[in-house]
Amino acid sequence: MDYISTRGGRPVSAAQAIVSGLAPDGGLYVPQSLPSFSLDEIASLAKLGYTGRAVEVLSRFLTDFSRGELTEYVGRAYAKSKFLPEAVAPVVPLGGDGAYILELFHGPTCAFKDFALQLLPLLLTASLKKTGVDKTVVILVATSGDTGKAALEGFAGVPGTKICVFYPDGGTSSIQRRQMTTQAGDNVMVFAAKGNFDDAQNGVKRIFTDAAFAKALSEHGYLLSSANSINWGRLVPQIVYYFSAYCELLNAGRIKAGDAIDVAVPTGNFGNILAAWFAKHSGLPIRRLICASNRNNVLTDFIKTGTYDRNRDFFLTASPSMDILISSNLERLLLHTSGSAEKVEGWMQELAATGKYTVDAETLAKIQASFAAGYADDAAGAAEIRARFERDGYLCDTHTAVAFHVAEANRSDAPMVVLSTASPFKFPRDVLAALGETAPESDFAAMAALTAKTGAAAPASLRELDKLPVRFNTVIKPAEIRAAALR
Ligand SMILES: *Cc1c(COP(=O)(O)O)cnc(C)c1O
Repeated sequence: MDYISTRGGRPVSAAQAIVSGLAPDGGLYVPQSLPSFSLDEIASLAKLGYTGRAVEVLSRFLTDFSRGELTEYVGRAYAKSKFLPEAVAPVVPLGGDGAYILELFHGPTCAFKDFALQLLPLLLTASLKKTGVDKTVVILVATSGDTGKAALEGFAGVPGTKICVFYPDGGTSSIQRRQMTTQAGDNVMVFAAKGNFDDAQNGVKRIFTDAAFAKALSEHGYLLSSANSINWGRLVPQIVYYFSAYCELLNAGRIKAGDAIDVAVPTGNFGNILAAWFAKHSGLPIRRLICASNRNNVLTDFIKTGTYDRNRDFFLTASPSMDILISSNLERLLLHTSGSAEKVEGWMQELAATGKYTVDAETLAKIQASFAAGYADDAAGAAEIRARFERDGYLCDTHTAVAFHVAEANRSDAPMVVLSTASPFKFPRDVLAALGETAPESDFAAMAALTAKTGAAAPASLRELDKLPVRFNTVIKPAEIRAAALR
């Protein structure tokens, strides 16, 4: 299967797309056609464990990787030492009225991004070999909080790679910041950047399309790549857990093969929910994709009206990993629904020039056929955390709360799978406050208080953070991202 840029150009292999990250024309790589899973095939996936399902799904998208390679990488990425639960991505019933939680936070950094970022380094180093590149890869990451740590954890110590992470100064929870600034490893660098996530992401994207910079790096034996969800290698592992969730529901006798489910996804850069769209359009019986935003609800408006308008206030919220006004992956959906790289190019030019664009009626109708959208502000999110805990005995984080809220408003008669994207212990002060407690100043004290209040244990990797030395404390301006990357 070949991959093309959302803005046109010649097809490349999956390995090439993964090595490049962003296409040279500034577009994102997408598969030229989608695989098609039959219901029988889906039912037989249910007989496998998570890693077996992953090999089957990935092998249909990454056709230039052998089954043997994928089996090895998947076995290493989702090993028991990294993901504690037997199911890797367990599905938990909530309340008993057909709502389920897909728990994606049991990996090494306690957020769903581990699913992609434990696998990406293995796919990327193999892709370098396949494409005959003999260079050190420099991974540049702009993070709104969780990607940075997950990428550091995935790439630390991987031979032939260096990783450089930029997070918005003051834009993450202090646990998230601490996870990054204490990262061990000789091939890692972490910077706080003034401004918000969009500024950091734009700074990084600009470097990717700077041909002169790429040439200078290349002469020094380096090649740039990305671990953000603009990289296809970041997105494709996420398709797997939608198939796996469906299999878990089949195995538990909650659905029959062919029954449709709805999924609700807390959304920022549109990567996770787009993976659900790829699963649906590869044959998985998903009826509706429910796109849940926080107060930065640019996607809610887009899905409802067809106008994407980032000219609005940017809010720092209790769900920082969704504090985004430019959702990069939407571009991929636009290509698949409009079928026209020319149109996508035009919209992206408008977005760059005026901060907004409006899609045509036909494209909007196709988007609305798959997606519903809504948002929750911090107060609604907090009310949701409290309600889920008091009524269902389920403790969720601030991002998952947004999805619960929007899922509730969009229930149909289909089973609803809500994605739980982070451990509540990553945001202990906000979660504690939502439960009606006065949160202590320190995140670590708040973690202990949250355990005392709920009986839930904090993950050891988070509890131990305050014992680790801080290695990185440099704050830079967005204009200095390029110079920082060269260090
Ligand atoms: C990254 C993140 C999101 C948003 O996911 P996207 O793929 O960017 O839409 C939601 N919740 C958490 C906890 C995250 O880390």
